[in-house]
Amino acid sequence: MKKSLSILCAMLLGLAATPAIADTVKIGMAIDDLRLERWQKDRDIFVERAEALGAKVYVQSANGNEQTQISQVENMISRGVDVLVIIPYNGEVLSNVIAEAKRDGIKVLAYDRLINNADLDFYLSFDNEKVGEMQATAMVDAKPSGNYFLMGGAPTDNNAKLFRQGQMNVLQPKIDAGEIKVVGDQWVDSWLAENALKIMENALTANNNKIDVVVASNDATAGGAIQALEAQGLAGKVAISGQDADLAAIRRIVEGTQTMTVYKPIHVLASRAADIAVDLGNDKMPESNAVLNNGKKDVPAWLLSPITVNHTNIKQTLVADNFHSEKDIYQN
Ligand code: BGC
Repeated sequence: MKKSLSILCAMLLGLAATPAIADTVKIGMAIDDLRLERWQKDRDIFVERAEALGAKVYVQSANGNEQTQISQVENMISRGVDVLVIIPYNGEVLSNVIAEAKRDGIKVLAYDRLINNADLDFYLSFDNEKVGEMQATAMVDAKPSGNYFLMGGAPTDNNAKLFRQGQMNVLQPKIDAGEIKVVGDQWVDSWLAENALKIMENALTANNNKIDVVVASNDATAGGAIQALEAQGLAGKVAISGQDADLAAIRRIVEGTQTMTVYKPIHVLASRAADIAVDLGNDKMPESNAVLNNGKKDVPAWLLSPITVNHTNIKQTLVADNFHSEKDIYQN
């Protein structure tokens, strides 16, 4: 947008519209919560790649606060960014601020989490329903029957709903067949481990510790739940899922207290996001492999494939990709 404006000005001044006058693409990256390990990786890889492409990136973290995120996005708009890359805290409340951005000709990329009812230009993520299917499949493989506790993610995160949808694709037929009994279903505010810990403590008490499986939607919440299981001598006995391949989770998988995680190669996501953001900043439409309706429009999207990781394939996946080093994983 800004680029086309400067080209226009150059032409009006009688100058040739050469690429030499191209502006640097300015990107505002609004991150929900840098307190969680995975988002720090996303930021580092995104910024490195975008800067290598000649863009300038301003990063802000809302630390899980809805109002803070809205103010941060407003601030980026007034700083004159060309592109907003948003990892929303609450995917339901950003329509107005995005409308404001669009009035200024700013392009908007929803990163990892969809933003509903908003005029997005693009959505980039993993196949999140598939993530949920992988989590539930691993749990059913570990314990084909028994008492299942469902621990959803943050209710404000559209992904949390997609993970649950995927989990239910696998679990529902077994629930209907009476093989699996759901003994509780709770969602963890802000995906925080401390909230998951409390939920798990209460669930264990309510069920006299008779829980065979915890379908946890990511590693942070699995970590909190496992702390509660440990206190009851149940860690390693109860099957539990995760997601993100956080270092602490991989160590738990090695020691046997967490059953699996879902690895989402963040370097692929974050570097593709940087390419897309720079394309959008230069008024180029990125290639898409999916379309998702967000309530306002059909949003062109690119969805990447997640990978199941358990104790059998850590080296072939995470170590091979340099996501974690063998030294970090296996040191005591
Ligand atoms: C992401 C997960 C992450 C969670 C908590 C989700 O939207 O897809 O990878 O664990 O948010 O930050």
